[in-house]
Amino acid sequence: MTASLPIVRFSKPSAPFLELQRNFFDPVQQDALVEESSRLYDLYRSQPPRRVCKNCGAPMGPPTFVKQDISYHVCPDCTHLNGYYEDTEPFYRAFFSDDDGEHVTGHYAAPDREAFEQRVEAVYRAKLDFIWDVIEADGVDPKSLAYADVGTGLGHFIQAMLDRGISRARGYEPARLLVDQGNELLGGDYLEELRIPDLDVLLPDLDANVITLIFVLEHLLDPRGTLEAMRRNPNTQYILIAVPVHSPSCYFELLFPSVYERHLSGHTHLYTDKSLRWLCDQVGLDVIGEWWFGADAMDLFRSGRTRMHQLEQPETGIRDWEQMMAPLIDGIQETMDRNKVPSEVHFLTKVRR
Ligand SMILES: [Zn+2]
Repeated sequence: MTASLPIVRFSKPSAPFLELQRNFFDPVQQDALVEESSRLYDLYRSQPPRRVCKNCGAPMGPPTFVKQDISYHVCPDCTHLNGYYEDTEPFYRAFFSDDDGEHVTGHYAAPDREAFEQRVEAVYRAKLDFIWDVIEADGVDPKSLAYADVGTGLGHFIQAMLDRGISRARGYEPARLLVDQGNELLGGDYLEELRIPDLDVLLPDLDANVITLIFVLEHLLDPRGTLEAMRRNPNTQYILIAVPVHSPSCYFELLFPSVYERHLSGHTHLYTDKSLRWLCDQVGLDVIGEWWFGADAMDLFRSGRTRMHQLEQPETGIRDWEQMMAPLIDGIQETMDRNKVPSEVHFLTKVRR
């Protein structure tokens, strides 16, 4: 590890993200999303109870808070936030690929090339900048490495890599529909279908130096086992782990139950600085880059706006709220980011050899 590592970054501007969240702000679309979450909650509440912390295996502690009749428990040992019910394979199958990706496709909402490229630009270019800078600081040429993006969706991250001149990049995605649409958008056979249970079969033979897991680890049945399998593959040098974090949005969602829950609804457990660092250390991964940012302040802004609408407040009041809050969002968020409690974090880890 060189002297300049780890690289620790905070925040990013919210304006491009606002554009991508437009459907969350629409009163009719937001109600449909609330309906959809409520069906997921019904399914989650029918799962068997969780006995131990998803992250460290310690017995579950007492409830920390209750949201939508589900209790959430901060782990007394590693501080991980656990939903009361177990994540089972049928639960995740229903969430990700049972409808062949229609649900996920709706979320990414990339029906055309323009939307695809907008998302690459707004979200993925900066992620690549981050890992590029960290790998370079580690004394390695990022362009010389082979990349595997697991849970790639339409392949936005692959597009960002291709644009940067990375030639060896492959994406793996459980939803067939996204694989087909993605390859069409990318103009080549860069993505392949990979059902979540087949990941363990793929990993020993994966020919990649950098594995990227963007909002994937938290959806795996055995996150630690999967990271260990990645580490055992001698090709693996770096693993990018982007995960949702226990943050103020959990409480905004609790306080605004009629507003679409972006954070702790599809996610049944959340990482913390301590719980993720513990996991990396156990697996044998050194954290050489960290990037903390989130959308909590945007969630607060949106929750207020949606509630104003639901309370049938005059349009002038809704406009007033918007004008008052919009300039504050990035500043409020940056405070959360710097305290390491935003709704997400990216860790670039280096395999300890
Ligand atoms: Zn724990």
